[in-house]
Amino acid sequence: MNILKLENVSKYYKSAETVSVGMKNISTTFDIGEFVAVTGESGSGKSTLLNVISGLDGYEDGEVFHYGEETSHFSVSDWERYRSAYVGFVFQNYNIIDSYTVFQNVMFALEVQDYPKADRKKRANELIERVGLSSHRNHKASKLSGGQKQRAVIARALAKDCPIIVADEPTGNLDTVSSKQIMALLHEISKDKLVIVVTHDYDQIKDYATRKIKMHDGEIVEDLKVKEYPKKAEIIKPELKKTSLLSLLRISFRNIFATPKRTLFLLLLNIIVIGVFTLVYSSQIKNINESGLAYSENFPSVPETRLLIERRDGGKFSAQEISQFKRNKNVLEIYENHNLFFNEFTIGGKTESMNYFSSFNKTDSAIILKKNEVNGKLPVAIDEVVVSSSFGNFNIGDTITLGIAYFHYDEYNAPPTFGEFKIVGLDKKERDTIYFSEAYLKQATDNKPQIDYLKYLNYRYLISDNLKLTFLGEDYFVWSMYAERNWDYDVSQYESGPRPEMDVYENQNLTFSVIVEGKELEKTIPNLSIEVFKTNQSKVVFLNNQLYQQLRDDFLIEFEDDYRILGRNLLVVEVSGYYYGNQIIKAVDD
Ligand code: ADP
Ligand code: MG
Repeated sequence: MNILKLENVSKYYKSAETVSVGMKNISTTFDIGEFVAVTGESGSGKSTLLNVISGLDGYEDGEVFHYGEETSHFSVSDWERYRSAYVGFVFQNYNIIDSYTVFQNVMFALEVQDYPKADRKKRANELIERVGLSSHRNHKASKLSGGQKQRAVIARALAKDCPIIVADEPTGNLDTVSSKQIMALLHEISKDKLVIVVTHDYDQIKDYATRKIKMHDGEIVEDLKVKEYPKKAEIIKPELKKTSLLSLLRISFRNIFATPKRTLFLLLLNIIVIGVFTLVYSSQIKNINESGLAYSENFPSVPETRLLIERRDGGKFSAQEISQFKRNKNVLEIYENHNLFFNEFTIGGKTESMNYFSSFNKTDSAIILKKNEVNGKLPVAIDEVVVSSSFGNFNIGDTITLGIAYFHYDEYNAPPTFGEFKIVGLDKKERDTIYFSEAYLKQATDNKPQIDYLKYLNYRYLISDNLKLTFLGEDYFVWSMYAERNWDYDVSQYESGPRPEMDVYENQNLTFSVIVEGKELEKTIPNLSIEVFKTNQSKVVFLNNQLYQQLRDDFLIEFEDDYRILGRNLLVVEVSGYYYGNQIIKAVDD
């Protein structure tokens, strides 16, 4: 039996006026162990073939057999399951979340696969090692080179442990050396798998390919076995693993809080954030395998048992409303001080510096814990916590320092700390969560800052650093200060000699832009005067100091939701389990 068999398969792309042939009358089989190179000129149908095989695209005529079974009756969700269980995708940047580290990206893939929690970290590290990225484990994906990114994509594909790997021009944007390495890596992982690689450069792959398929005009015009491959005596169809409802919900929850605030507010029809629960849940099923994730740093990993509610008008909840929520039997507890929960944090031992960091760590209240889930005891005093021993070699009795994740700050500035806590218990289930006492979560927080100043300053700094002006077809860095006619020698950090020659432009409508954390913002200001160095190799313009600050602050407003997060009137609702989510939403809504 072949893992894949195509019988007279055709695929057409129909539009209002035209029908174009993606591929026609393809009949062939694929086997485990094969390393197939698909070549052919642009438009010859390579991607179409790959997409049909991998279930990304449907087909019109013929039949695709998977482990001997017909697929023409497959529903959308059958294909969904097929893809998620059997096919690993290696496309450019496929599913890589730029703002996550390599480690977090792989962890996330494992989480989606419902990989046993206890082994996830170990497995993630193995996969990262396997693709040769260990030294970049904690680098954000956005900071990786093209080749490194593609390795991360492969690590994610491998996280699935699936029998089929498809790669569409995996080296399309890479230099020769990286391309060779990626091909070698794909070859290395091809043992016991069927790997199909589309490439326009057969030379890159010819050392490894066991088979070469050439396409032209939607047809296979050449199909050569170029090398023996290890045949397996018996091919067993792997068990179809469903992503559990729990995982889906968990991911949905995370995505709710990963949605940019503005979008989020559009979704808020009434008072609640969690009102979108159902919406996100159902759309998530569709997107889970295909989408990258939008990402916000504020609520990236809220525990499943914690709902956050907010009034649409942003106002405070009344005592009456709160007690009404409390009456719901699935609500365990309500906390008004949401800023005592930290969604990402660093942990440090007392003597060491802060030494641990993962965005998958979160905090929760101990009220959801049962005594028998914990070695040691539940936290009672204000500074007592329960942690997982998987955080590091922590023991009962240890004192730890908690701080905001490094993630939010640069590598050089230590993050602010929340204080010292004593470990009184270890979570037997090793959830990546720190559990606080009721005493801690019920304390008054009136003296807490309304703005996360570090974050605010961080944004300010980022904006100042990235401010760009496009003027007369050139990009310039924008500097503040000396745009006014009377050049101020005294405060200039550059000059003590005569003023350099400047070109002066008056009454210009100028468009400034800034990219901060992947978000591009633009502003046009009319009637501005600017000065540009006559010999401007470093491409700098000067803007009047006051205007410069105004501009920066205008841009800053765009991020206000982010740094004002501590001032939002969110209510934290502990629920007794995922399954009550919808009921509680409805109750809150009512
Ligand atoms: P290749 O990957 O070899 O460059 P494709 O499989 O992408 O080729 O395309 C094969 C043919 O199908 C081309 O003629 C292309 O124009 C057409 N085609 C591919 N995708 C679409 C689409 N989404 N809509 C219409 N035509 C398409
Ligand atoms: Mg293509």
